[in-house]
Order: sequence, then structure tokens, then C-alpha cells
Amino acid sequence: MKWTKTLIQTLRENPGDAEIDSHKLLMRAGLARKVAAGLYAYLPLGMRVLRKIQQIVREEMDRAGAQEIVTPVLQPSELWRTTGRWDTMGPNMFKLRDRAEHEFALGPTAEEVFTDIAKGVVSSYRQLPLTIYQMQWKFRDETRPRFGLMRSKEFLMKDAYSFDVDAEGADKSYWTMYHAYEKIFSRCGLKAVPVQADGGDMGDSLTHEFHVLADAGEDGIAWCEHCGYAANLEKAERSAAAPKAAECAAEPAEVATPDAKTIEQVAKFMGLSADAFVKSLVYVADGKPVMVCVPGDRDVNDVKLKRFLGAKSVALADFDTVLAATGANAGFVGPVKPADANLRIVADISLKGASGCIVGANKDGYHLRDVGLTRDTKLQDGDFADLVVVQAGDICPHCGRPLAIKRGIEVGQVFKLGTKYTDAFKAVYKNDKLEEKTMIMGCYGVGVSRTLQAIIEQSHDKDGIIWPSSVAPYQVVVELLDPDQPEVVKIAEDIESALEASGVDVIVDDRPERPGVKFKDADLIGFPVRVVVGAKGLANGGVEIKLRSEDKSQARIVAPDAAVEAVRSIL
Ligand code: ATP
Ligand code: MG
Repeated sequence: MKWTKTLIQTLRENPGDAEIDSHKLLMRAGLARKVAAGLYAYLPLGMRVLRKIQQIVREEMDRAGAQEIVTPVLQPSELWRTTGRWDTMGPNMFKLRDRAEHEFALGPTAEEVFTDIAKGVVSSYRQLPLTIYQMQWKFRDETRPRFGLMRSKEFLMKDAYSFDVDAEGADKSYWTMYHAYEKIFSRCGLKAVPVQADGGDMGDSLTHEFHVLADAGEDGIAWCEHCGYAANLEKAERSAAAPKAAECAAEPAEVATPDAKTIEQVAKFMGLSADAFVKSLVYVADGKPVMVCVPGDRDVNDVKLKRFLGAKSVALADFDTVLAATGANAGFVGPVKPADANLRIVADISLKGASGCIVGANKDGYHLRDVGLTRDTKLQDGDFADLVVVQAGDICPHCGRPLAIKRGIEVGQVFKLGTKYTDAFKAVYKNDKLEEKTMIMGCYGVGVSRTLQAIIEQSHDKDGIIWPSSVAPYQVVVELLDPDQPEVVKIAEDIESALEASGVDVIVDDRPERPGVKFKDADLIGFPVRVVVGAKGLANGGVEIKLRSEDKSQARIVAPDAAVEAVRSIL
């Protein structure tokens, strides 16, 4: 392919809305163009990469025994009402009506559609297990579409759904997909790590997210270098620290702390560090207020709290609820004698047996010191649990060594769904005794377009992208430095056709530009291999071959007729 025949437009400037490197490079290399916030057009170079990723995903899905289908983007509301998700999906779901006022969603995912299909096509256990998948555009009205393709309103997802006769089969399907995902990401040249995630609505269901570790990642991951434990921060657990030992004989005493509301302000006022304090927050769980106590320097993990309380929803309480429950305003509330004597109180496990604590006094402008958390409150052993967001240095729940916190980009997720959807749809099959049984499901998503950008985020330098050869728009760029000299053109074209004949994607930069401009563009776009063909080089011994990841000094000069073999061997 000749550069001058290809739609390639590189940009010198970073787009104003691009915050992270991969977004800047995506736009500057001319892979995509923004149509509106969260909406992108893929230009020819970007499209080539997208197709290569799709191809890898398809090959690995097919190899794993999954079968490709495609379902409509436009999904009727009835399907979503069957599971109740028409009302619970929230504002992320794009909803619209047709001319007959029938309601539809632009599919944000497709559990309902696939379950309905399975129900319709499967009747006997002989047809199971079944895994079907599609590669389809998904729509989500994200609160903050940003970072280019990473969080867009319309994105390409591969979604697969497995249907099994029993838990054992569902397990097998799950791990088959898990291993297929490992292959997909490694074939894309990505280091993606599986991390344990929270099952959301599905409670304790097994689920892993595949994350590309990168500072630009939106998700926090607790990571143990010693034993390999990895969990996203919603899920991550820690070994409880030993309870504070110091016995405290003194009775709780009020301390006036006017104007000091936050832990930091009170700590400063009293000349103490934040960890001497117990932070008390009032939540509402399924409509009922609950007080949650955590060490002053820690944050409550809402997901863990929800699990521990067995609640469907938890959220911080509003001012009035806080006042009614405790007798004070937020900032001065604590677990000792709140106004509502029946207020449920729970506390982080690290506070079990803690004494000498400082807590809000449930009286505006006051704190209490010398509080024994079990002695002076109604907290019982069963009220303590791991309720905080894990921090760097917390103890790994598996091996006891310290945890680190990393940032990750979620490129895929595998999920055991059990019978949540098949129950709702009554998706049953007949077993060998002709009894009706419910199918057991799993679902598996790859963010194909996000993966494209995650590859850039993981593989770039100050000059541009460094594509892994498996997904590069072209694997080789032939830099034709003297497009006006027929004998030089002939050599470049011979190399091009010989490489193409052996299945290598080649682009010949035949633009009448200065070498500096051409090399800069090649580095920006990030073709894995560069072959420089110019009159001067040929006079001095041959063509120059260099990997994008190498520096100039590592380039090798080979005779023109040895170039193809040399390129093939480094690819
Ligand atoms: P996130 O937590 O990042 O919002 P999610 O967990 O809601 O993602 P899933 O429902 O698991 O997303 O969708 C499967 C995959 O689709 C994700 O792993 C991710 O790679 C991709 N994805 C999800 N939302 C977006 C988006 N707005 N833009 C691009 N890709 C997305
Ligand atoms: Mg997910």
C-alpha cells in the first residue's frame, strides 16, 4: 500500500480534551476522529487495528467453542422489563420510542436478548453447553465520557453468554472463557492481569476483571507482589490489623471542638494524628439509618458495607437523617449514645477492642475522648467486619505481606451469573428424565475499542505509539526517501511486494517529504519495523532496518535482496 493513496493525517498538536497519552496519540496518529463527546469515527489506520483485534477475539472465541451470532442494537423494553432492569439500569441506558410509541433501548449489554434467544432455541440438555457471542456496538450514556475510546458513549464490545445444565458445567464454561481471554490479550501484545472483582447484584458470584496496569487507569487494584493476590478496590480485602492494645482506665470525657468538623480539623485542633480518631458516618441501608465507624484515616468501602449488611442499597444519609439518628450534625456524630437508641452501629474490624479513642459526641461542637469502643458503645463482636477501602501497606489476606495499590484499565470481564436471568425468563431445558431445569449462565465481555487504546497506553514512548506486530495497522513501513528516482522506487516496491506475498502488511511512504518528517510520522503512528530505502543508503551498502522499539544505533544495514528475509526474521 502506498502512503499517498491512503487516508492518513497526523497532527502536530495534542487535542485540547486529551488528558492521557493514549488519547493524545490516538488522535495525533490519525487513528480516529472525534464526532462529538464520547463518539468517535475510526479512520483507515484505526480501522485496521480494530479489525485485527476483532480477528484475534473471534479466533479465540471460536477456538474456545463459542459461536458467533449478532443481535440488534435496538432492544425492546419488554425484554428489559422481564428482569426488572428497565427500571434499575439508571440513566446510563439510552431509551427511545418508535413511531408507535414502543419503547426501546440502545443496547448497553445484552444478557436479556441472549437469554431470550437461548430460551427460544434450547429445549434439550443435548443442546448444552452452549456459548454464543457477538461483536456489536454498545451504548452507554456515561456520566463523564472521557479519555477517548476508553470511556465513550458508543463502543465496540465482544459479549459472550454461556448456558449450562449444572454448576459444574457453568464452572467449566467460565474457566474456558477466562483462559480464552488470557490468550486474546496476550496475542494483542497486552499484559492484562485477571483481578477478582465484586459480583455486584450477583452477590458472591465469581467474577474476574482483566486489567491493563497503567497510571492512567480509572480503577484501583490491590496487588500482592509476593503471592499474586489481585483484586479491584471494591472487592479487595485485608487481614485485620491487631486491635489497639492500650488499655484506658479513664471514663469518656467531652472536649469542646468548635468549628472543627473534619477529622483533619479536629486532629489539628487537638494536636493529634488522624488515626487516633474514629470516623463515624451515617448511611441509609435499604431505607434504614446505620452508623459506620472506621479509623479516622480510612475510607468506608460502600460495596463491602452493603455485603456485610446484606442490603440492596447503601448511601450516605442526608442532614436530617443524621440529625434524627444521632442528635448532632455530621462531623460531631459518634457511636456513644446516639439520639436514636435503636440505631444500628457497625465498625471496621481494626477497631475491635480499641480503647482511648476520640469520637464525635453526638452534640454539635463536641467530641469525646477516652472512649472504649466495646466498653462504651453497644458494638458487639458480630458488628465488626472489614469495611474499609484497602490502602497500600495493608496486609495481604492470603500471604500476610504488604499490599500495593496499582491503577488498571478494565479491558474485559468474565462473570458467573447463575440463574438470575434464566429464572426471570424461565429459560429451561429438559433433562434426560424429561424434567424441566433452569439453564445456568455466565457472561463474558471484552471492550474491543477500549483494548485498542489500552494497547497504546501500555506501549508508547515520547515519539509515539509502538504497536505490537499482531495488531499494528501495518507491520512494516518502507521509507522511500527518493520517490523521484526509479531505481530506488523499484527496490522499495520489490521489498513491498515480496513482504506482502509472505503475508506481511506493508505501507510504502512514497511522499515527497523530507526524511525527518517521514521518520517522525512513522514513529508517531508506530509501525513495528522501518525499512529505509534511499539513494544514499544504497550507495553506502544497502537498506536500513530498525524496529520501532530500538534506537538509531541498533539499526542494521542489509543488502536490498536480504531485506525481506531480515524483516521476516525480526517479525
Ligand atoms: P467500567 O467499570 O469501566 O465502566 P463496566 O464494568 O461497566 O466498565 P462491562 O459491563 O463489564 O463494563 O463491559 C465489558 C467491557 O466493555 C469492559 O470490561 C470494558 O472493557 C468495556 N467498556 C465498558 N464501558 C465502556 C465505555 N464506556 N467505553 C469503552 N469501553 C467500555
Ligand atoms: Mg466490568
